[in-house]
Amino acid sequence: MNIILLGAPGAGKGTQAEVMCKELGIPTISTGNMLRAAVKAGTEYGLKAKAAMDAGALVSDDIVIGILKDRIAEPDAQNGFILDGFPRTVPQAEALDNMGVQIDKVIELAVEDEKIKSRLSGRRVCLDCGATYHVVTKAPKVEGVCDVCGKELVIRKDDEPATVISRLETYHKTTAPLVDYYSKQGKLVTVHGTDSVAETNDLVLAALKG
Ligand SMILES: [Zn+2]
Repeated sequence: MNIILLGAPGAGKGTQAEVMCKELGIPTISTGNMLRAAVKAGTEYGLKAKAAMDAGALVSDDIVIGILKDRIAEPDAQNGFILDGFPRTVPQAEALDNMGVQIDKVIELAVEDEKIKSRLSGRRVCLDCGATYHVVTKAPKVEGVCDVCGKELVIRKDDEPATVISRLETYHKTTAPLVDYYSKQGKLVTVHGTDSVAETNDLVLAALKG
């Protein structure tokens, strides 16, 4: 099954993608990781992406979708995939349709802005090993210190209040219209994210079966 995961930053897409990926045995494809891998592998589109990035330009939708098509042609994606972080705009979704990438279901993780703001403000990350924490829901054993490697935990720029507000605004303006777009195609399922990851995951899996 080919799935798109939609949701505001902080709605818990990454966590849900991980669990779905285990449950369904299909890979999660995140745009950032996919781009980095293609650049590293030096594929045709990877080189184009690198040229754009080196020039300080945005990587165009055509290049991203080209890389995506290469990625989903790989053996591990033959039973399906979960797209996390793409498409972000209606034109990107249209381009995906035009390039013949079949999408079966679109899961919208709906979480209120206020909840997202409080979730993200508590987030702490370890820049050294990549471990993530939350001061309330997933506190490290020692405050401000990574359980895994013992390094200092920091607040990412993305999680600072002013950045969160602007990321949410961008989401509502450019990405939220995708809810309508996929709803019209009969592919949209909305799941109301709760504070419990396990509970949200049950809802997501039920939505996939339904
Ligand atoms: Zn660490």
